[in-house]
Amino acid sequence: MQDAGPQSDRISLIGVSSTAKVSAEAEKLRRAGVEVIDFGVGEPDFPTPDNIKRAAVAALEANFTRYTAMHGIQELRQAICDRHRADYGTDYGVHECVATVGGKHAIFNLTQALVNPGDEVVIPAPYWVTYKDVVNYAGGVCTFVDTREEDGFAVTAAQIERALTERTRLIIVNSPCNPSGALVERGEFEKIAVLARERGVWLMTDECYCRFLYDSAPYSVAAMPEMENTVVVAGSLSKTYAMTGWRIGFVLAPAAVCQAIIKLQSHSTSNPTSIAQKAAIEALNGPQDSVEAMLKEYRQRRDFVIRRLRAMPGVTCAEPRGAFYAYPNLSGVLRMNGTSTPMQFAELLLARAGACRIPGVAGARREGAGAGPGDGAGHAQRAYGALSSGAGVLPDSAQNNGRRDRPSADGTSAVGSAAAAGRQRVSAQDRAQAEGSAADSAAAAGAAAASAGRLAAPVGLHPGPSARGKAQRTADDAARGGRLGAGARRGRAQRLGSRPAAV
Ligand code: PMP
Repeated sequence: MQDAGPQSDRISLIGVSSTAKVSAEAEKLRRAGVEVIDFGVGEPDFPTPDNIKRAAVAALEANFTRYTAMHGIQELRQAICDRHRADYGTDYGVHECVATVGGKHAIFNLTQALVNPGDEVVIPAPYWVTYKDVVNYAGGVCTFVDTREEDGFAVTAAQIERALTERTRLIIVNSPCNPSGALVERGEFEKIAVLARERGVWLMTDECYCRFLYDSAPYSVAAMPEMENTVVVAGSLSKTYAMTGWRIGFVLAPAAVCQAIIKLQSHSTSNPTSIAQKAAIEALNGPQDSVEAMLKEYRQRRDFVIRRLRAMPGVTCAEPRGAFYAYPNLSGVLRMNGTSTPMQFAELLLARAGACRIPGVAGARREGAGAGPGDGAGHAQRAYGALSSGAGVLPDSAQNNGRRDRPSADGTSAVGSAAAAGRQRVSAQDRAQAEGSAADSAAAAGAAAASAGRLAAPVGLHPGPSARGKAQRTADDAARGGRLGAGARRGRAQRLGSRPAAV
């Protein structure tokens, strides 16, 4: 007999974006007149540069409004290859390039094209939560590799090597990383690539934030010689050119992989929006100074945010070396406040600070639950991509203005008002479309409240990594391979739960 309910087993493997939920709740509050500070949205607050906008207007006026080639017009694919060559010294041709509907689409398509049911995919943690869901959707099995706060959350080749098995099909590395800001040094990334090649495993480099490095030059592991059948690139114009809403990303990969992706794309989205493609050409071929200007601003914001976080009792924070996220460790705050789980902490934030956060932080949470360094349970991700630099943009104190929201029963959509003192600037994003990691939009308010001594009373934390590993393995073992029956798949879906995914 069929299960009641509208969902396929496949859809049950993935969850709704918690960031979208958060944004929707925040939007509701805003409409009710509440000021909301949203550090969760990984989105630049810069406008798209004028030259790019003008290119789109020109495309419209020229009636460039019809279907294009499924994988993007040749001029765009050439511009993508040229930019990648200029920035990183790679040598891709247009037949090795697919223009996609944003970077997420590139990751989704690559994963669907490369991963078979039962294949293992190695993902360093903390990680951007979308990886897990797209792997699950492909029937793959995630193997998470813990990174360490004392290493700045940068994964090493040795750590990845320990996670490889005969079933490993793909390694996904995102450097600089959402949510930790970790940078995998070039030499280390190259070791990972060599390892992948030796083991016959694909290596996906998610280059979404590659141009935003604070203390070193951008590079791409795809520039290494003899990596064409090992490395695949998922790229995005969203952050680099403040074009999140335009939805242009790309894949650089061997022609055969591109052909597979084009097949998939031809039955799903077809081409990326025609006028956005023209805008993207201008972004890639035109002046690049806006990228530098944004990076300069992000550096100031990072310095400000890190300084302030580290000044808060109970908070430690590794220095982000790229991207625009901070990943503070709040386990000291949890202890100080008698909270043993992120969920309790979220409730405390709501109660004491009128603030919102998402327990477990979707951008970092490991499968198998629990908490520990790098899994996000004691951490909170904060995006400062939309934070104006300068004094007074973060709260010294936060006050409850009477508004309360409760976390949902499954703990995935806690949103409340980060009601703030008068001099706080509201930097919330309006859109429900955000990325990664549903963060802790109330970290500032909550941590400020903590530092003001309004949260008190100690307790300990979470289970250790071995418990997590076991839970993960049990779920994975049950789900191995396309050999699963519907019942087993459903069981897996239940175990995986309806966890959030990032937008
Ligand atoms: N990779 C990472 C790590 C991200 O955080 C995001 C979203 N911010 C993306 C890829 C995809 O971005 P988009 O789909 O907006 O291009």
